[in-house]
Amino acid sequence: MEPRLINLPVEKISKIGKVWASRLKRLGIKTIEDLLYHLPFRYDDLSKISKISQAKIGEMITIRARIEFIENKRTPRKRMIITSALVSDETGQLPVVWFNQPFLTQVLKPGDIVYLSGRLEYGPDNLQLTNPTYEKFKEKISPLHTARLVPIYPLTTSLTQKQMRFFIKLALNYLPYVKDFLPYKIKKERKLINLPLALKQIHFPDSYDKLKQARYRLKFDELFLFQLKTLKAKVILKKSLAYKVPFNEKLTKKFVQNLPFNLTQAQRKAAFKILKDLEKRTPMNRLLVGDVGSGKTIVAAIAMLNVSASNFQSVLMAPTEILAFQHFKNLSSLFKKFNIEIGLLTRSRCIISKGECLRRSLLNKIQEGKILITIGTHALIQQKVSFKKLALAIVDEQHRFGVEQRKILKEKGGEKIYPHFLSMTATPIPRSLALTLYGDLDLTIIDELPPGRKKVITQIIPPFKRKETYNFIRDQIKKGRQAFVVCPLIDPSDKLGVTSVNQEYEKLSQNIFPEFKIAFLHGRLSSKEKEKIMTEFSQGKTDILVATPVVEVGIDVPQATLMIIEGAERFGLAQLHQFRGRVRRSKYQAYCFLFTENPTSQSLKRLRALIESDDGFALAEKDLSFRGPGELYGRMQHGFPEFKIATLFDHKIIKEARESVVELLNKDPDLKFHPLILAKISKEQVHLE
Ligand code: ADP
Ligand code: MG
Repeated sequence: MEPRLINLPVEKISKIGKVWASRLKRLGIKTIEDLLYHLPFRYDDLSKISKISQAKIGEMITIRARIEFIENKRTPRKRMIITSALVSDETGQLPVVWFNQPFLTQVLKPGDIVYLSGRLEYGPDNLQLTNPTYEKFKEKISPLHTARLVPIYPLTTSLTQKQMRFFIKLALNYLPYVKDFLPYKIKKERKLINLPLALKQIHFPDSYDKLKQARYRLKFDELFLFQLKTLKAKVILKKSLAYKVPFNEKLTKKFVQNLPFNLTQAQRKAAFKILKDLEKRTPMNRLLVGDVGSGKTIVAAIAMLNVSASNFQSVLMAPTEILAFQHFKNLSSLFKKFNIEIGLLTRSRCIISKGECLRRSLLNKIQEGKILITIGTHALIQQKVSFKKLALAIVDEQHRFGVEQRKILKEKGGEKIYPHFLSMTATPIPRSLALTLYGDLDLTIIDELPPGRKKVITQIIPPFKRKETYNFIRDQIKKGRQAFVVCPLIDPSDKLGVTSVNQEYEKLSQNIFPEFKIAFLHGRLSSKEKEKIMTEFSQGKTDILVATPVVEVGIDVPQATLMIIEGAERFGLAQLHQFRGRVRRSKYQAYCFLFTENPTSQSLKRLRALIESDDGFALAEKDLSFRGPGELYGRMQHGFPEFKIATLFDHKIIKEARESVVELLNKDPDLKFHPLILAKISKEQVHLE
C-alpha cells in the first residue's frame, strides 16, 4: 500500500527540519497527521479591527495600520532595547513600543501595512500600544496571528505560539490527503461538515459559527470511533469464554460467619451479583464502586474464595506495595482456616503464605496453577507472569491504573480464555462512568458504610488558624489518636513553593510536636522500610506519619483519626476524598484539615464541595465539572486518554454517535463496505472498563 502522505514524519514538510521535529516530538507530534490533530486549547478573539481614533484606553485592540517610522533605542541605563514606532491609519496615528526585540527593525519597515494586537496604555508621553503581536498584512492571504480568532496551542519550552501556528499552517497544505472516513449518509443526517474543512476551521476559524461546526465534527468523530470500538469489543467479549465458577454456598456461609463483623446489606448484594456472574461462561466485566471504607475488599475476597474452591486462579492488582502487602496479610489471615495458599508479587518482594520465596519459584507455581490467589502491584503486568487457569482478575483502586495496564491484566488469561474481570474504586474515572452509561460495563454500587462509621469532619485551615489546629491535634494525640500529614512532594522545591515531606518532618518534629514520635513515608524508601514504618504506625508506636500521597489508597489504621493535608488546593477532589477515607475507619470521630497557602476563589469553591459532600461518586463527577473547558483538554485529566476534544459532558453527541454506530453495525457488522472506518479502528482493541 502506498504510504499515506499525512502519515509521513513532520520533517517531510520542507520548512520543518530535524531540530523542530524533535521539539514537536516532545508534544507527541510525530507525523503530519499528529500536527493536524494538535488542537488549540483556546482562541483569542482578535477579529475585530478598530480604528485608531476609536480605540479606548485599557482595551485589547487590533488595528490595521501603516508603519511611518521604526527605530531601536537603548534605555538611559542601557539595560534594555526599545523598539519604537509610529503607525497610522486613515483616522489617526499611534505610537507603538516593543521591549527587547531589536530584530523588529529588520522585519518591519516604514511603509509596511501591519496588523497589531495589544493593549492600549498610557506611555511616558501619550497613549501607546505596548508589545503588540504583529503580523504583516498581505493581499488575499488571511493573517494567522492577529485580526482573527487566533488559536492558542499547548506548547513545550523552545516553541512559541507563532511557530506552532506557522507549522500548523504548513500542515494544512496536506488537507487534500486527509480521507474523510464518515459515510455521506451519516454526515447528512447529523449535519456534519467534511473532515478537511473541520480541521482547517478548528485551527483558523473564520467565525465562531464555523468553529462550532468544526468542534462538533471532531467531537463526533472521536465519540463515533470510540463507541464503534466499544461495541465491537463487546461483541467479541460476548462471544469469548471464561471459566465457569459455581457458587459454593456452604463454604461462603462458613467464611461469612467467621468474619469479625456482619456484612452490610450492600456488601451481600454486591457479592451475590458477582457470584452470579462468575457462574456464567461469558466473562464478567464489572465495576464495583463503593466509598472509601465501605468494605470492597471482603466482597472481592468472597469471589476469590469461590474461585479457589473450584481450583481456579484469581489475581488481585493494587497500586502500591504497601497496599498489596496489606491485602496479602489480610487475605492470608481471612483464608487461613480454608487452607488456601496466597502469593505476593511486587517489584521488590516475593512471598507465599509460608514466607519469603524466590521469584522464579513463585512464577513457576503461578504458571503451574499451584498458587490459586496471587496479589501484587504493577509487577504483575510488567513481568513474565502467566497463569494456568485464571478465572478472576481484580483491579483494586482502579482509578490509579491506566487503561493499558488494566487491559494487560485482563489479557493474562491466555489466548482463548478471558478471566472474569472486576475493578474496584471509590472514585471511578469518567471513562468508566461513560461505559456504564450504555451497559458496556456493568456497575455495582456499595451505597452503605459499615454501621457506626462517622462522617469525617472536614475543615479548610488558612495559615492564621494553623496554631489552633496544631493544639487541637496535640489534645487528640494525647488521647491516643494518631495523625497523617500529607504533603505534595518529597524534597523541598523552590520553584513550586510547596511543602515537602522532608521539610515538614523537620518542622513538626523540631518545632511543633517535639513531644511526639513522628515518622515519614514516601515512595523513594525501600519497600522493607515502608513496611516497617507502616507496621509501627499501625501498632501505635508512632503518633504522626508525614507522607507523600502514597497514603492515598487502602491503608487501614483504626486509631488514625486525624489528617492534615498540606497544599490542599493542589489536589483533585477525588484524591482528597481518598486521603480523607484513610481516617474514617473507626468508631472515633475523625477530622480532616485542609491546609491552604493562598488559594484562589475557584480552588476554595472546590475545597468547599469536599466539606459539603461525603459521596466519592458525586465528588468524582464534581471534580470534572469544576475544571474549565480549557483544562479538559489535558489528556489524562479528564479520564478519556483517547479523546482530544470530546468530553463526558457531550451527552447529546455521545447519544447521536451511538445511534449512528448501531445503525452502521446493523447494516455492515464487519465493516466490509466501510474500509476507511475499518482502517481507523483496527489498530488496537479497546478495553471495556
Ligand atoms: P474499601 O472499600 O475502602 O476498600 P475495606 O475493604 O478496606 O474498604 O474495608 C475497610 C475496613 O472496614 C476494613 O478494616 C474492613 O475489615 C472493615 N469492614 C469491612 N466490612 C465491614 C462490615 N460489614 N462491618 C464492619 N467493618 C467492616
Ligand atoms: Mg480498598
